[in-house]
Amino acid sequence: MELKIIKTEKPKQKPSGALGFGKYFTDHMFVMNYDDGKWHDARIQPYAPFTLEPCCSVFHYGQAVFEGTKAYKNKNGEVRLFRPRDNLLRMNESSDRICIPPIDVDFVLDALKKLVALDESWIPTDEGTSLYIRPSVIATENALGVHAAKSYIFFIILSPSGSYYAHGLEPVRLYVEENYVRAAKGGTGHHKVVGNYAASMKAGEKAAQMGYDQVMWLDAKEHKNVEEVGSMNIFFVFDNVVKTPALRGSILPGITRRSVIELLKDEGYKVEECDIAVKDVVEGAKNGKLEEVFGTGTAAVISPVGDFGYRGEDFVVGGGKMGKISRHIYDELTGIQTGRVEDRFGWVTKL
Ligand SMILES: *Cc1c(COP(=O)(O)O)cnc(C)c1O
Repeated sequence: MELKIIKTEKPKQKPSGALGFGKYFTDHMFVMNYDDGKWHDARIQPYAPFTLEPCCSVFHYGQAVFEGTKAYKNKNGEVRLFRPRDNLLRMNESSDRICIPPIDVDFVLDALKKLVALDESWIPTDEGTSLYIRPSVIATENALGVHAAKSYIFFIILSPSGSYYAHGLEPVRLYVEENYVRAAKGGTGHHKVVGNYAASMKAGEKAAQMGYDQVMWLDAKEHKNVEEVGSMNIFFVFDNVVKTPALRGSILPGITRRSVIELLKDEGYKVEECDIAVKDVVEGAKNGKLEEVFGTGTAAVISPVGDFGYRGEDFVVGGGKMGKISRHIYDELTGIQTGRVEDRFGWVTKL
């Protein structure tokens, strides 16, 4: 397939001041359409609205998936993408779960590199900032009726972003949710399917009203084991052993999660993927054996957890401060992403 490039004639004003997360979008986007059994009309074009009919299938049945990855520009002007291929491969897995046709990963990765290169001047360079990359697919068949659509739009938009959380690396407060569930085995929770996020909002709002930043989700069947947090995977450090919930079909297989496991194992840390009962987390917080808790995800990278609320009680972790393993991984991962630390795993794709 050929890639057409249509440059904007009216470059936008770039934001000044705090970027926040996902508020500003660059001059261009990548788009391609799917009809009659194939992707076609791949193009980089000016960022612009889509025109969709009210009957468009995505509005009614939510057949849509997304991804999130980042590009970093360092002091030498080098532009670096972190494991972007893994995101596109995961996107095809998400798509497959809800009957969306796959994309050609190599073609799209090449288009992504060209798109980022074209909007390179939008990549922020301050500490903690990056260009957030959002690939999405939506179903666009103009007909009602629950079935897999015959038409789709794939697009990639770019958003210069600061820290995901308003308070940067400050520890977050989690609320352990025992009524609402995010994902059940056999459902779509281990894929980046849009409906998962709608399903999580009620609990998110409830936690926010009580003064918490994020929800800690438990398994759907017994509400016994910890699964993940908001849109992050979660890690616990008990007695110097790093533990994270094993992927058993209802947890999103995070690329940051995998990177943290690979990095810590490489450095000789003991890392276990296992079941983690919320009662053991509470016990550890009480007797001090739980040294650190942190979330991992592309948007926040590493997010230290300062305390969590469970059945009306609050439990402080690590004195409410960022722990030393959390700090170390944050420095290592962001170091590899920006080029401050050698990329010994081959995770970085340069433009
Ligand atoms: C995207 C996401 C994550 C983190 O995945 P990364 O690949 O590390 O960004 C974790 N949980 C959920 C529910 C997610 O949507």
